[in-house]
This record gives sequence, C-alpha cells and structure tokens, in this order.
Amino acid sequence: MVMFLGARNVARIIQSIGLRSFTLQLIEYLRQDFGRWETFERGPRYASHSPNGVIELMPTANSGTFSFKFVNGHPANTLRGLQTVVAFGVLADVETGYPRLLADMTLATAFRTAATSALAARHLARSNCETMALIGLGAQAEFQAHAFEAALGIKRLRVFDIDPRAGEKFARNMSGAGVSIMRCDSAREAVASADIITTITADKKMSTILSNDMVGSGVHINAIGGDCPGKVELARDLLLRANIFVEYAPQTRLEGEIQQLDAEHPVTELWELIAGHKSGRMSDWEITLFDSVGFAIEDFSVLRLLHDLATQVGIGEEIDLIASPEDPKDLFALLQQSEVEETARNCRPAQNAM
Ligand code: NAD
Repeated sequence: MVMFLGARNVARIIQSIGLRSFTLQLIEYLRQDFGRWETFERGPRYASHSPNGVIELMPTANSGTFSFKFVNGHPANTLRGLQTVVAFGVLADVETGYPRLLADMTLATAFRTAATSALAARHLARSNCETMALIGLGAQAEFQAHAFEAALGIKRLRVFDIDPRAGEKFARNMSGAGVSIMRCDSAREAVASADIITTITADKKMSTILSNDMVGSGVHINAIGGDCPGKVELARDLLLRANIFVEYAPQTRLEGEIQQLDAEHPVTELWELIAGHKSGRMSDWEITLFDSVGFAIEDFSVLRLLHDLATQVGIGEEIDLIASPEDPKDLFALLQQSEVEETARNCRPAQNAM
C-alpha cells in the first residue's frame, strides 16, 4: 500500500503544526538537501509547452529516495476559474522502486517556493531589512509574505497587483498575521523604499515589472514569476547591475530572467552559498537577485517533510495505487481474484431478495 495525501490532508498536516512552524521546518529541510547537493541526480526539467502554458515533470533522486513532481503553469487559467499552478508528486524507494507517497503538491509548491526564497534571502538580503515590496498578489503571494516574516522578520509589506480583487483577497488573508500592508497604485510606488522586492506575477510574455530605474542600491530582488522560456519580469539592464544567484544554472539559463543574458554570464548556485563554497552579498550597496524558477530538489524536500509529518501526526490514507499480487510472479491472479469478487457482488442482490 502507498500513503496518499490529498489536498485536504496536506492542509490538515500543516494546520496541525502551524503554518509558521511548517515554513521554518521546510526551510531547514531545504537547507539540509541543498547542503548535500552533490549527492542528488540533477537535470533540467522536462517541459511541454503549448500556447496557453506549460506542463512539467521534475525528477531527482539520491541513493535512497527518488521523487518527481507534475506541475503546470497556465497564466490565463484564472479567467476560467482555474488555478495558474497545480501539482502532485511522488516519493519512491530507490532500493525496490516502489512508490512510498503520492501527494497533492499544489499547496506544497507554494510553500516550497516561498521557503526557498526565504532561505536564499537569509544569505542575500541585508541584515537589517524591514520592508518588502510584493508585486503580484495571486495564489503564491501569502506564502511568500509568511515565509519572509517567519525567516527574516519582515513586518512591513508594500503590495501591488493589476487586479484590485487580488489585493482585497491578499489583505483579507493576511489580516491577523502581524504584518502591516500598504496597498499601492503601481509597482513603482510599491518598490519605493523597499529593502526586498518580490516579483510574482503570471503572464506568458517578456514583461517588465521592474525597470532599471525602479531599483536602488542595496536591494535584494526575489524574482519568482519569470520561470519559463519567453516569460520574464525584469529589465535586462537591471540584471546587468545585479549579483545573480540561481537554483540550477543549466535550467535557469533556459527559463529564468537570465535567459536575457549571454550563456556565460556569471551566476552562483544557491547550494554553493549553503555549503559555504561561495559568498553571498558582498556589500550593503550591492543589488542581489535570486532568479528562481523552481528546482526538483525543493519538491524532494517538501515531500520528505510531508511524509515525515504525516507519519508523526497520523494523517494520510493507505491506497492500493499499485497492483500487489500475493505471489509477485503471478500478476494474472489478480484478474482471477477480481472475477471472483465481481461474481460475489453480482450474487448479493439475489441473495438479499430472498
Ligand atoms: P496567479 O495567476 O494566481 O497570480 C498572478 C498574479 O499576478 C495575478 O493576481 C495577476 O493579476 C498579477 N499580475 C499579472 N501581471 C501583473 C503586473 N504586470 N503587475 C502586477 N500584477 C500582475 O499565479 P501564481 O500561482 O501566484 O503564480 C505566480 C507566478 O509565479 C507564475 O508565473 C508562476 O508560474 C510562478 N511560479 C514560480 C515558481 C518558482 O518556483 N519560481 C513556483 C510557483 C509559481
């Protein structure tokens, strides 16, 4: 039997330990897994592009565990009442090849993206940051706000979205979070005086959410929304001013903001900071940029945490996801078994009628 965590049970697990505690534990799991980066299989994800969006498969493995995630990105989905991003994933034992966990990862993707952003910002933002600008207030936004509050103590948010309903939803969801929110009329107004800028908009085009003149020295930029070919949020000349950090360079060069730069443009991978091989921010005046597109090891970490917590708190179902015949060489017997059960079921109404 395989453990199954549907969306409701994923939410129950998170509620059972608290959103803040889940976020901080996830940051720790990410730190551990990025810290043993070289023990993982790594490669750019498989991406199937279509006019409306992309469907991706994101696999990785270490010596004990294999994981993959199915995820989409369809920016126009919200016009049809559907989400831009939905996901599910699997953990499996390398030794037997048997799946161990099947889980919804729509919530988990939002958490792991925000937790990775916060982990990067701990290394890259100035130590005295107080204010973050958040541009794009869709499905991912609250997770980013909570992660930066939990990990960096960000208590002031300046926010903007072209859709006023997204702003209302964000303010409603963040009430009681202990964070002050200033709703702004433009991205330019939102980023003025911000120590950290998070861009998390959805549009399948080369947008300019941040132009060069909008960003002053010392700012840390957490760029999340530009995550596939032909989809960016930052102006090229702003990139040229920044010290750039990425998850996995071969994938980010195809999908991230740096798709606008030469293939040789220097970037540092996040794991190099975490393992202590490279330095992060060099001065209080430098602009640092985390050009995030999402990487399979982040999915591995959040699945690992969900599996551990599900076992601890006793939430989750066992499902017969895969056929398990009593005799492993006699798969055919399952069909005969089903036939017996079917016959028994068909007989029952007649017996009841007697
Ligand atoms: P969403 O559709 O729920 O929200 C996007 C929001 O951006 C909407 O409210 C929309 O009105 C707003 N927006 C669009 N253009 C804007 C503009 N010019 N200025 C201000 N706001 C604007 O999408 P989501 O699930 O929140 O995802 C946001 C983006 O993050 C997507 O592009 C998604 O692909 C990306 N993403 C990246 C990662 C990663 O790991 N890097 C993970 C998850 C999602």
